[in-house]
Amino acid sequence: MVVIGAGVAGIATAYTLQQAGFTDVVVLEKGTDVGGVWHWNRYPGLTCDVPSQIYQFSFAPKADWSRVWATGPEIQQYHREVVDRFGLADRIRLDTEVVSAEYGGDTWTLTDQRGGQIVADFVICATGVLHNPAIPDIPGLADFTGPVVHTARWDDDLVTDGRRVAVIGTGSTGVQVVSALAPGARSVAHFVRSPQWILWAPMGIRQPAVVAHLLRQAPRVHGAVYDGLLRASGLLADIVTTPSWRRRAVQAYARLCLRLQVADPELRAALTPDYQPLCKRQVVSGTYYAALQRPDTELVTDRIERVTATGITTADGRHRELDLIVLATGFRTHDYMRPMRVVGRDGITLDEAWANGPRGYRMTAVPGFPNLFTVLGPNSPTGSISLQLSAELTAGYIAAWLGRYRRGEIDTVEVTAEATDRFARDVADAMGPTVWNTGCSSWYRTEDGTIDLWPFDRTTMERMLGRPDDADFIVTTSGTGRPTR
Ligand code: NAP
Repeated sequence: MVVIGAGVAGIATAYTLQQAGFTDVVVLEKGTDVGGVWHWNRYPGLTCDVPSQIYQFSFAPKADWSRVWATGPEIQQYHREVVDRFGLADRIRLDTEVVSAEYGGDTWTLTDQRGGQIVADFVICATGVLHNPAIPDIPGLADFTGPVVHTARWDDDLVTDGRRVAVIGTGSTGVQVVSALAPGARSVAHFVRSPQWILWAPMGIRQPAVVAHLLRQAPRVHGAVYDGLLRASGLLADIVTTPSWRRRAVQAYARLCLRLQVADPELRAALTPDYQPLCKRQVVSGTYYAALQRPDTELVTDRIERVTATGITTADGRHRELDLIVLATGFRTHDYMRPMRVVGRDGITLDEAWANGPRGYRMTAVPGFPNLFTVLGPNSPTGSISLQLSAELTAGYIAAWLGRYRRGEIDTVEVTAEATDRFARDVADAMGPTVWNTGCSSWYRTEDGTIDLWPFDRTTMERMLGRPDDADFIVTTSGTGRPTR
């Protein structure tokens, strides 16, 4: 069997399958390293805004994070260590991009970028969400004579100190990169199309050494800390999915952060979003508002009209001379395993199956695509529940199907369209009272306007992924126990 992707989802899957006794597993990864987003993103200021003691695999607790909110390089190092520690490296083929996966005769044939082929009984797509950079269609962008860099493809040789820098975009990434570049750059112009609410948190604080010592000495305590944080994160799921005083309190805190940190009424007005806090993926920062109020940093809310050879012209006719343009413009978040060409049963392509937006059953199965699963696929809880836990639960669910295959109980398994539609209806119903549905544009929304997130709580996820619900699947069987490919 083949797992595509060696990021958070792929590592969780490879580990889970190994624990379940599957030895014939190959992980194909297009990058030159494991880690997924933590490999591809190396922009200055990269920090995870989820506390590290919960931003980790349940099976690989790390006691000695250097900071409460770890930096990108430390998280990436953690992924390398996990892969080594659990002996997963031998299964992973780096620099191998799957360009097509085609189903026929009960097997999948995968082709990589060099034309190499591999045949698999099962394919598990752990290809990520924040994966394909979104490059904005701004007139003249190609004419700019200086460097233009997307944050997810940062060039380590890029010099920003002493330069006139434009940063376009104000999601979690734009806010981090502006904060990091402002102190050294000659000037930073932050081009903001729609301002974001920003929750203040002391993102730079260190995890005291004594904490690491205690957690190392007492693994049980470490486990209890992790469980406690998971339970506490249930509060986040509650806040975003259910209107209550708790949601209003967090929203009031977001408004307070702006009021307390930005004294100038004009700047504050320009930074005030026209939608509710938490509607978009919430941005957390302890440094952004301060960085923006430096004399050499400027908020630009006028629409970008065009990029010229030497800078950016805005709709008010003003032209700013620049040395460097940073695109913090996010990702094509609904591509999932695309641009890989995926061809399922009867020649149906994933593009055809998802013509109206990505659609999957319980984040993991797609009608028309037998013996193919996704981990952190459509409706994954990127806004509420631990992604590592979600990936581990999904991998366990997939392992249950693979176990049945290994025992000869099934040959193929494919989710029904009815079950997938029912799941989509349940999701749509549950989406109603969520904060994501309170009137903002965000990367959570698909082209047809649905919200591609998990609107339920963790218990529901655990129940839905607890064990396969046979009535929701079509299985074929010839009844022979077999080794797997
Ligand atoms: P994002 O949240 O999608 O933000 C993209 C930004 O670019 C938005 O401000 C958007 O404006 C702007 N933009 C896009 N096209 C534009 C155009 N043509 N002209 C002007 N502005 C344009 O992307 P992101 O900041 O990379 O973050 C994506 C996700 O990655 C986050 O939400 C988060 O889940 C994750 N992330 C996490 C961390 C972390 O600390 N854990 C750090 C970074 C990223 P509009 O809002 O007007 O569309």
